[in-house]
Amino acid sequence: MSDYVFEPPLRPSLPIRGTDRRFPVRRVYCIGRNYAAHTIEMGHDPDRDPPFFFQKNPDNLDPSGEFPYPVRSSDVHHELEMVVALKSGGLNIPVEHALDHVYGYAVGLDMTRRDLQGEAKDLRRPWEIGKAFERSAPCGALVPAAEIGHPSAGLVQLRVNGEVRQTGDLGQMIWKVPEIIAYLSDYFELAAGDVIMSGTPSGVAAVARGDLMEAEIAGVGTLRVTVV
Ligand code: MN
Repeated sequence: MSDYVFEPPLRPSLPIRGTDRRFPVRRVYCIGRNYAAHTIEMGHDPDRDPPFFFQKNPDNLDPSGEFPYPVRSSDVHHELEMVVALKSGGLNIPVEHALDHVYGYAVGLDMTRRDLQGEAKDLRRPWEIGKAFERSAPCGALVPAAEIGHPSAGLVQLRVNGEVRQTGDLGQMIWKVPEIIAYLSDYFELAAGDVIMSGTPSGVAAVARGDLMEAEIAGVGTLRVTVV
């Protein structure tokens, strides 16, 4: 018998492509404004200011392929992002060793209740109400870096019902993956199971029930998610 007053839920996890094993998730960090064209479309200067982060909840990750349109919003946007999954961590990780901590990569969506995020920004409040809602992070299977290496260039594209909405290149990231890991580790002790959503290219836009989102990252894969 455990000492828990109720049975604790299973730890959130992500599937791993080509195996039946799963990657247990500890934390979800998300970087804001990491592609210049997206920074501009959101009304900010695309200079190389220090990166900033917010978090989603581990159980917001959802590999199901369905995204239920969330409550309390009428302006829900897609943000296509490469997901970086860590197999180890630490504090003050040097940039040149950062990729040693990466288990693998996945295609993810940072779904955003843009209306609620906008209100939070206007009121100088935190972003969770716009970002960390139920099933707000659709995510495909992880692909181990041992198989594909560490993607640093290549097409990132999101299509909705076959129409291209977001297009960019991994090489356009303002802060590269090793820099993101190193910077985060100066503020948080990173650990195995942490995942990082690495920012979205321009073209974010609203979705509606029935839409099919196809999110593609060259070398990582394609994630298909239906809005229900
Ligand atoms: Mn995002």
